[in-house]
Amino acid sequence: MIPLGPLDVFPDSALADALRNELDHAGSRHCETLADPELMFPDGNDRYAVAKSKDQCAGCPVLNLCRDYSLAAGEQYGTWGGVSENEREALLIDTREWRVAWRRGQQQTAAA
Ligand code: SF4
Repeated sequence: MIPLGPLDVFPDSALADALRNELDHAGSRHCETLADPELMFPDGNDRYAVAKSKDQCAGCPVLNLCRDYSLAAGEQYGTWGGVSENEREALLIDTREWRVAWRRGQQQTAAA
């Protein structure tokens, strides 16, 4: 598996492409045989539907790779690697805020 870099570099299209390629050639995915693929793209505010989509990911052999790809690609919709779209958005926003604060701290240290 390609090592996942720090979240502050996301989205990263080159990494996303590499991870997507690896994902496409990885083992079977629990969601690929679903009669209704839309199950993996629930309304983000529908907790029951989100939980049902996450159930598909539980124990999926490519869960980590799938999650890493979705973060690298900045996927906006659907459940990927057991992470809902709302959770992914919050994770990426938190990381961006942390990055801004870290850079501000670096600048203040350099100016002192
Ligand atoms: S982790 Fe979830 S979304 Fe990703 S391939 Fe597996 S079942 Fe599908």
